[in-house]
Amino acid sequence: MEVIQSMRMREVHKSRSMALWPGCCFLWKLALDIRFHSPDASHRFPMKQKVALIWFFFVSALCLCCLPGAQGKTVVIDAGHGGHDRGGIAYQRYAEKEVTLDIARRLQNRLRSAGYGTVMTRTDDTFIGLRERCAIANAQGNAVFVSIHTNSDPRGHGIGIETYYFSKQSARLAEAVHREVLRTSGTPNRRIRNRGFYVLRHNRLPATLVEVGFLTNAVEGPKLNNSSSYREQIAGAIARGVQSAF
Ligand SMILES: [Zn+2]
Repeated sequence: MEVIQSMRMREVHKSRSMALWPGCCFLWKLALDIRFHSPDASHRFPMKQKVALIWFFFVSALCLCCLPGAQGKTVVIDAGHGGHDRGGIAYQRYAEKEVTLDIARRLQNRLRSAGYGTVMTRTDDTFIGLRERCAIANAQGNAVFVSIHTNSDPRGHGIGIETYYFSKQSARLAEAVHREVLRTSGTPNRRIRNRGFYVLRHNRLPATLVEVGFLTNAVEGPKLNNSSSYREQIAGAIARGVQSAF
């Protein structure tokens, strides 16, 4: 367990430094431009240097304004099911575990780009028990937990977005994620519900579980399973929800 946690912490640090890396490269290049490539080195502040300096301060100010919003914050991303646990109902055509993992990976990329640290409860098709998922979440400081699932209905009628939370401190996160996913998907609103699912009830972080649609529905199922651009849109919506609440 300790080994897993230290691996995950390394992942957090790596993702943070990756998010900062493009900004550092940009500033370094600007500094080099100012130092070596000015055609008018004899002048105190030629136009090119002025423009470069303005850019330098603009980008620095932008970094200072934007990054603290995400810096030092971690999002625990929980892809539902995995391994022998396929998710959904018996004889369901599309595997929930595959859809949730794909969206989780896309969400991780989005959040890393925005400067968040990320921890995945699973990164491949392995079974992780609910207790371990909570242990991973509860080992994080200054973090929120987002569990990704898809819904199923044996009659095939169910369609739309449903989001859950348990503790009071999780309501804002659930509302924000639900609002964004609902807006992006354009499917019916099945509302936000207060439920004591294991990963919500045993989580000390603000935690939400979002059902991003019904894999058993004739319209929503193929869309979620076959369209990578739709899954990307859903991941983007979850990321926006997280960003607005955390
Ligand atoms: Zn599920």
